[in-house]
Amino acid sequence: MTARPFHSSANVLFDTVVRQVQRLSPGFLRITLTGAHLNQFAGHGLDQRVKILLPNGPYPAAFDHDLLPESEWRRRWRNTDAADRPALRSYTISTARPDHREVDLDFYVHARPGPASSWAETVQPGARLLVSGPSSRLSDQPYGIQFSPGTASRMLLAGDETAFPAIRGIASALGPSVRATIILEAGDPSDAAWLVADLPRHAVAVHRRGPDGSGSALMPAVAEWTRAVGADSAARGTDFYAWLATESAQVARLRDLLHGSGIDPARVHSQGYWNDRARAAEHRAEVRVG
Ligand SMILES: Cc1cc2nc3c(=O)[nH]c(=O)nc-3n(C[C@H](O)[C@H](O)[C@H](O)COP(=O)(O)OP(=O)(O)OC[C@H]3O[C@@H](n4cnc5c(N)ncnc54)[C@H](O)[C@@H]3O)c2cc1C
Repeated sequence: MTARPFHSSANVLFDTVVRQVQRLSPGFLRITLTGAHLNQFAGHGLDQRVKILLPNGPYPAAFDHDLLPESEWRRRWRNTDAADRPALRSYTISTARPDHREVDLDFYVHARPGPASSWAETVQPGARLLVSGPSSRLSDQPYGIQFSPGTASRMLLAGDETAFPAIRGIASALGPSVRATIILEAGDPSDAAWLVADLPRHAVAVHRRGPDGSGSALMPAVAEWTRAVGADSAARGTDFYAWLATESAQVARLRDLLHGSGIDPARVHSQGYWNDRARAAEHRAEVRVG
């Protein structure tokens, strides 16, 4: 029997329109989307992710239907000419207000902007955006969430700007008995100010990214943390949990640091949130030359 990919997904394609664009900091834009059916959006907070389909000109007519199930919108996407196909990117729901038929997404604009960063930077109220997210009509289970700490009361949350919306969602939902250490890397520390202001209860350290690029501040900061409390955290077993998200190559190195200090891999969620393809290409060129 052939598997039908995404057949059991709770995601549908919400047809939305930009209501407001708000600059949070030099590198961050909060974009409020509204849609006739966003009252069905099943928002669960934490690191809940959605897929956005970025228009490459007007959307093809195949997408002129609200609430297409995920298996169907992906089929239509695959059948669209590559030149007209919307670019797919993952984002975190910053806030969902189904009663007001609204969701907010917080976009970090990369220094070398790809389609999503460019869209966020130039978009005006009234523009259309297709968002694939869970429908409360299809499932009442939390959907699109990776954060899974069990009963842990001590946590490490670490990431770069792309992870700030998820870290905000996670840290603001932690119970009063949970102590989280939050380690952030930012090219411009003022891009962390809005996040730090939202999380007064937790120890938040912001490290400025250095000229060596992604990971240049996060790696040494997490290494320092492992030296100070890695062994103690490992000994806590299920009372400890780590959530890490940053550039794909860097997140693997962070995960190795934690495992190297004895922390059970099962107590660590680590995820690449973006790929620095330009950096990888430079590295390949250096290797060829060298
Ligand atoms: C689950 C999840 C949740 C996320 N949530 C958020 C969120 O809430 N907010 C947020 O800001 N981000 C979030 N991200 C990260 C976001 O999806 C990425 O940053 C995304 O890649 C940005 O898309 P883009 O089109 O702007 O850039 P992309 O095209 O994806 O490129 C990203 C970067 O890669 C490099 N690059 C890629 N291709 C080239 C090329 N051909 N030449 C040169 N350089 C290149 C550039 O440095 C560029 O800036 C999330 C990711 C995941 C997986």
